[in-house]
Amino acid sequence: MADDRFHVYDTTLRDGAQQEGLNLTVADKLAVARHLDSLGVGFIEGGWPGANPKDTEFFRRAQTELDLKHAQLAAFGATRRAGVKAADDPLVAALRESGAPVVTLVAKSHDRHVELALRTTLQENLAMIRDTVSHLRAGGQRVFLDAEHFFDGYKSNPAYALEVLRTAAEAGADVIALCDTNGGMLPDELAEIVHEAVQTSARVGIHCHDDTGCAVANTLAAVKAGATHVQGCANGYGERSGNANLFTVVANLQLKRGFDLVPTAALADMTRVAHAITEVTNVTPNSHAPYVGTSAFAHKAGLHASAIKVDPNLYQHIDPAAVGNDMRMLVSDMAGRASVELKGRELGYDLTPEHTKTLVERVKDLESRGFTFEAADASFELLLRDTVEGQRKRHFEVESWRVIVERTKGGELVSEATVKLHAKGERIVATGEGNGPVNALDKAVRLGLEQLYPELAKLELVDYKVRILEGTHGTDAITRVLITSSDDTAEWATVGVAENIIDASWQALEQAVTYGLLRAGHKTA
Ligand SMILES: [Zn+2]
Repeated sequence: MADDRFHVYDTTLRDGAQQEGLNLTVADKLAVARHLDSLGVGFIEGGWPGANPKDTEFFRRAQTELDLKHAQLAAFGATRRAGVKAADDPLVAALRESGAPVVTLVAKSHDRHVELALRTTLQENLAMIRDTVSHLRAGGQRVFLDAEHFFDGYKSNPAYALEVLRTAAEAGADVIALCDTNGGMLPDELAEIVHEAVQTSARVGIHCHDDTGCAVANTLAAVKAGATHVQGCANGYGERSGNANLFTVVANLQLKRGFDLVPTAALADMTRVAHAITEVTNVTPNSHAPYVGTSAFAHKAGLHASAIKVDPNLYQHIDPAAVGNDMRMLVSDMAGRASVELKGRELGYDLTPEHTKTLVERVKDLESRGFTFEAADASFELLLRDTVEGQRKRHFEVESWRVIVERTKGGELVSEATVKLHAKGERIVATGEGNGPVNALDKAVRLGLEQLYPELAKLELVDYKVRILEGTHGTDAITRVLITSSDDTAEWATVGVAENIIDASWQALEQAVTYGLLRAGHKTA
């Protein structure tokens, strides 16, 4: 179990799940919990049992299906209703019976919210806190308290907000997490209020939303002011602008402030964990995310390339390996020889000066025609191999392809593609149907080649982007297509450029399949 002196508390499954468009099944929640545990967080808030059937089910299944190594589960819920005993409140009973070792109670700490939202007296609200905390403590559960709207409450009525804190601590709550529920705080003012809260001698935690873009900064400011419990969500999920990104918070505290929060090896796996969670949530990963984004250590070298070659640390704030990320060189029209050399080395090739020269010329020529290699690593690698190995032997040759798009009588659009290929001495004719011409071509190619290259079954087209580029010097506009493909271990992107969108798509698709076969270990056909 993690050290109790400082808590890393994740609320992805409860607060993070409020994000627009995010919808997690119980199995998804269990999967996310396993990923968070592997990262070494101390607490995982699973949801609100009793109030939400899916969350009740989560806690029930967690008892047999989750084997947590680091984390403890926390059940979230409210203090008892006004005018009843905690022991008689069915929602409190659901928390008691959740099987979770920790209960996090949400309580009002803003006088106006008590009166207007809860419609009870300030005194009764304190009694609800006292009664619910001590009732659950007596049953053997550890209790944390989320002081909702704490900062706005403090500004409205500081004495009452602090009274809530004291009441909860005296009743036996181990931590009182101060919540910036509306997310409107800035670090300096927040730190002053946290400082006041710490003087009550209650143990203070922090829960921030990112409405001012300061959730992580606010969290760090709170820690500096004495908070010893940080709440946040994987990848910064959460409603509106999201919650504090727990990965950024942990990396900052551990790498910049010397906290020992998660095992070093787990931190070095954080990029993978962050991406694995996006697979479960089906939310496109933010490539610019601090520490774990695919662009977090990507350099468009240009002028700096030769210096980066000498010492990469001159251009990055930490060693990306500490969080399991990599430095990447982007090959672009700003690129000179040094960045092509660097990129070659990154891919495992030691380029001769002649190869580098040829490659730089080819990249510049292609980029002037609308290609881009910054976002198409796989196309760049194929180009590099062509340059180094002369004309590579092909896995397959294309004789011809054709796509028909038909609007049926019933008004349905169906695309059908036929491809004629040559591979391993055979002539292959294959057809594929799809919901669009590119989908149909993709199916036809793979259907045709799968008998000869069974590993293509794992290949998947995961993203398709089209951009129309302005024509220059009186020419027509041209179309650029970027395709992202994956097998079960990696993703790669390829690019095609043509006047015709299908032609551009085909180029990117052909390279995507070729690169997939190279990855699978087929050096030549
Ligand atoms: Zn919240």
